[in-house]
Amino acid sequence: MSALFIKSPNFTQGRKGFKPIAIVIHIMEGTLDGTDSWFGSRSSNVSAHYGIGKNGELHQYVKEEDTAWHAGRVDHPSWKLIKPAEDEAGMYINPNYYTIGIEHEGSEDTDWTEEMYATSSDLIAAIAQRWDITLDRDHVVGHHEIYSLKDCPGTKVDINRLIAQAGGTPPAVPEWVVIKTGFTGKATTKNNVNIRRDPSTRMAPLASVPPGIQLAYDGYTEVGQSIDGNSKWYYTDEGNWFWSGAMK
Ligand SMILES: [Zn+2]
Repeated sequence: MSALFIKSPNFTQGRKGFKPIAIVIHIMEGTLDGTDSWFGSRSSNVSAHYGIGKNGELHQYVKEEDTAWHAGRVDHPSWKLIKPAEDEAGMYINPNYYTIGIEHEGSEDTDWTEEMYATSSDLIAAIAQRWDITLDRDHVVGHHEIYSLKDCPGTKVDINRLIAQAGGTPPAVPEWVVIKTGFTGKATTKNNVNIRRDPSTRMAPLASVPPGIQLAYDGYTEVGQSIDGNSKWYYTDEGNWFWSGAMK
């Protein structure tokens, strides 16, 4: 697939010995034109490898071999494959070195166009092929899974659909769970909240989120494990679960 190359000055040559292991999905909070000039301006100090317009147009700003500046900050990451720093506890290796970033036109609460899904999934498939990346939910992530203080890419994008359309394997829903989908929303954590693979506490949690953090959900089940008489668990589009009783 062909991309219009609009070189950004904001990148690091090479990848400090790393190679891309995952693709990060972003929303522009703006237009493709605006992103062209924002990434083209040295003073913005940011970039991504690609930008996709609502009409499916594809722009490239940084070569995949080089490091774009799209996901360098880390806060309470829920992404399983993030690389911890070897020498500093609680710190991480800058995810820019081992990810490829794709921006999409629009804002966090506007619907994605069919053209955006088509171009983005084609691009994801091509990137996965080039870098031997497994197409599943661990390797295609939303920006906020790395930097929880941001909502990017918002609640409208269906990352599992991108993965499926790119020929990958989105997370399977446990057979014993009846998910009520289409109930997207956000809830704020009341206590420390564990993020889990199942709507139950039978396996070790994937991550723990401190109080006061907003979590987005895609649906829920009323037949998860009952805790204090409450068996309602929220389902995230990452394919994970958190218990409703721990939310405000
Ligand atoms: Zn982002």
